[in-house]
Amino acid sequence: MKSALVARLRQGHRTLDYPAGKVELPSRFRGMPALDASRCPEGCGVCTRACPTGAIGQPLRIDLGKCLFCPACAGACPEQAISFGRDHRLAVRERADLSVGAGDGPRLARALDLEATRLFGRSLKLRQVSAGGCGACEAELVALGNVVFDLGRFGVQFVASPRHADGLVVTGPVSQNMRSALLETFDAIPAPRIVIAVGACALSGGPFAGSAVCEGGVPPEIPVDLFVPGCPPHPLTVLDGLLRLLGRI
Ligand code: SF4
Repeated sequence: MKSALVARLRQGHRTLDYPAGKVELPSRFRGMPALDASRCPEGCGVCTRACPTGAIGQPLRIDLGKCLFCPACAGACPEQAISFGRDHRLAVRERADLSVGAGDGPRLARALDLEATRLFGRSLKLRQVSAGGCGACEAELVALGNVVFDLGRFGVQFVASPRHADGLVVTGPVSQNMRSALLETFDAIPAPRIVIAVGACALSGGPFAGSAVCEGGVPPEIPVDLFVPGCPPHPLTVLDGLLRLLGRI
């Protein structure tokens, strides 16, 4: 018992002091890309051909809604015009804001309107629907509940029933088999409600885009309030977007 207590004392406080504290990300983390157009005057197209999802185009520009952060483009570019930075803040309010060109910084998500932040800012219940994804985005969402990120301290919780929810979190490319379940879940959440799309699949279909058996992301019948790119997004990317949406950052 004594040794267990000593071990706990040595472990100290594990919960991140986010957003105030210092963010430490794993060395292999890839965040906001940096594009150097001066190194790519001709636009040779090597990166475009290397990209598995058609996320990168000429003149040099990446659609983060399609990007898997793999990073085949950076490896293929003979001029090192593409690199991936350490900034985890990637979530936006408008799908178009995920198109990033040379010199562009992150266009961070702005808060909901005053009425919505008053309603949801301190207590937000979310129903999650995995609409045909691989499980990676869901695993990162589960990680948000662990002692490191402790999503519950911000008043945000995942709930089992859409009737008890204030919003919907969608992951996966929305397979045909999940389309009606997703739409019914959205309809079952009482208005006003918010929708958060998490991961490249939910934003654009990701590697499944163009498949005859998936929608290519959240269907247009469901209006999205927050787009969180990544494959999968890091829990801090999701947390940062959520807190910005709720006016907490
Ligand atoms: S990192 Fe993104 S843009 Fe680059 S090759 Fe991979 S999916 Fe395409």
